[in-house]
Amino acid sequence: AKQAGRNAFRFYTADMNAEALKKLELEAQLRRALARGDLVLHYQPICEAAGGRVVGVEALLRCRDDGGRLMPPGEFIPLAEETGLIMVLGEWALLTACRQACRWQQAGWTLRVAVNLSTRQFRDAQLAERVRQCLAGSGLPAALLKLEITESSVMEDAERAAQTLAELKALGVAISVDDFGTGYSSLAYLRRFPIDQLKIDRSFVSEVTHHPDSASIVRGIIDLAHSLRLKTVAEGVETEEEQIFLREAGCDLVQGYLHARPMEAEALERWLATREAGG
Ligand code: C2E
Ligand code: CA
Ligand code: CA
Ligand code: CA
Repeated sequence: AKQAGRNAFRFYTADMNAEALKKLELEAQLRRALARGDLVLHYQPICEAAGGRVVGVEALLRCRDDGGRLMPPGEFIPLAEETGLIMVLGEWALLTACRQACRWQQAGWTLRVAVNLSTRQFRDAQLAERVRQCLAGSGLPAALLKLEITESSVMEDAERAAQTLAELKALGVAISVDDFGTGYSSLAYLRRFPIDQLKIDRSFVSEVTHHPDSASIVRGIIDLAHSLRLKTVAEGVETEEEQIFLREAGCDLVQGYLHARPMEAEALERWLATREAGG
C-alpha cells in the first residue's frame, strides 16, 4: 500500500504536494488543539452608533497551535469547513459563548452574544435543535443570542434557508445576515426571511470616508434595511470619521477597533468596568 501511495504522489506537481501536506499538517494541528481543549473565544463589543452604549459582543474563534500561538480564524476555518471539523468547532463556540453570556448576565452585564455560523452548520437539518440544546444547557435566554449567518449561506438554497431560519426564529434568537453586500441578494428577497439585522461588511465601511460610491452604498443599505424594519450593524469601524458618517446615516450599531478589539472574556470584563467608571 505504501508503494501505491508513493506512485500516486508522482502525478502531483511539487506545489500541489506541498499544498496538500500543509493542509494535512493543519488538520492534524487542529485535531490536536481540539483534543487539548486549545480553543479560545475572543469577544468584541457591539455599541449603539448614537450614544455608544455597549449592547452586545461578537464571539470570534481562535485556536492555539502546538507552539502556543493563537491562530486567527482565517487560517483554519476554511479547512475546518472543508473537512467537516467546523461542526465540532462551531458547536463548541456556540455552547461556550452561551455559557459566557449567561455568566455575564448573572454578573449584571446584559449583553447579547453574536455567534458565527458556517455554511455547513447552517445546512445541518439539526441546527435548530442544537441551538435549543445550547440555550437549555447554558441557561441563556434566547433573546440574548444572535446568530450571524453569511449572505452566501442564506442564498445557497433559499427554500431550505427559509425553513431553517423559521425554526431558529421560533426559538426566539435574533438573526443577523453577515458580510452583507459582498454576495448577491436583493433586500426584497431577503425580506421574505425572518431576519432581524444586516451586518454591513467591513470592505464598505472602511471606504465610506474616501469613496463616495461606498458611502452611497452604505447609506442605501441602511435606508432600505430600515424601510424593511431591519436593524443595521456596521463592522470594522476604525476611525472617528467613519463613526460620524455611520451615525449620521442612521446606522443602528457599530463594531470595530475604534471601540475595542476582540479580547478574552476577562479583558472584556475589565474593559466594561472602566467604561462604566468613566461614563
Ligand atoms: P466576520 O464574522 O466578518 O468577523 C469580523 C472580523 O473583523 C473579525 O476577524 C474581527 O476581529 C475583525 N474586525 C473587527 N473590527 C475590526 C476593525 O476595526 N478593523 C479590522 N481590520 N478588523 C476588524 P477575525 O476574528 O479574524 O474573524 C475572521 C472571520 O472568521 C469572521 O469574519 C468569521 O467569518 C470567521 N469566524 C470567526 N469566528 C468564527 C466562528 O466561531 N465560527 C465560524 N463559522 N466562523 C468564525
Ligand atoms: Ca460575523
Ligand atoms: Ca465581514
Ligand atoms: Ca478605514
